[in-house]
Amino acid sequence: MSAWWTLPCLLLCAVMATAPTPSRAAQVAVDIGHTPEHPGARAASGQTEYHFNLALGEAVVAALQSLGDQGVRTDAQGAELSLPQRTARVSGADLFLSIHHDSIQPEYIAAGRAREFSGYSLFVSKRNPQFGQSLRCARAIAEQLQSYAGQQPSEYHAEPIPGENRPFLDRPLGIHQFDDLVVLHTARMPAVLIEAGVIINPDEETRLASPDTVRRLAHAIAQGAHSCMGE
Ligand SMILES: [Zn+2]
Repeated sequence: MSAWWTLPCLLLCAVMATAPTPSRAAQVAVDIGHTPEHPGARAASGQTEYHFNLALGEAVVAALQSLGDQGVRTDAQGAELSLPQRTARVSGADLFLSIHHDSIQPEYIAAGRAREFSGYSLFVSKRNPQFGQSLRCARAIAEQLQSYAGQQPSEYHAEPIPGENRPFLDRPLGIHQFDDLVVLHTARMPAVLIEAGVIINPDEETRLASPDTVRRLAHAIAQGAHSCMGE
């Protein structure tokens, strides 16, 4: 039972300094993961990952604006773009955030274990030229996800199994090292990839589809980004 749509989001993603200035609005690139044509993972209901990424990404842009920052989408309103094109389109941004929602390995889905997995995961790459600031921003976002939005890290991607095994850079905050994620290492600015939650878990899908959850996640992500850029 390993149809392509059961592949974890990160597997699909893989194949396929600092801070600015108080004198102008910081510009944050908001990368809405995947496209309508290639929508990423599938939720328990069959809804696409792209659907969830779009709702949260739009909310992050709005939340950034409410904080006085500028959120700029990379995705050209759903057009097909290669992963390097996504980072090249926003080369002047101060921070790059890639918004995704998670699945799990196909064998876990086949074994009926989807309800065991929930929570967010953050990723940064040591190949990014501003790795240190990437990690600082990931920490700031994770702290907001926990303290403001009440989220917990999934820890799933650190499991020592094929396709995962992404080491922790900060376990309590749910931050993993994933050097070869394309958008993270092609970005010239600090970059963080956010898996907001595990949509293959039906309970988690319902929670992540709630407008209140989307609002809380978006505010937490924007506030974390805002605070790390001001450090
Ligand atoms: Zn994804």
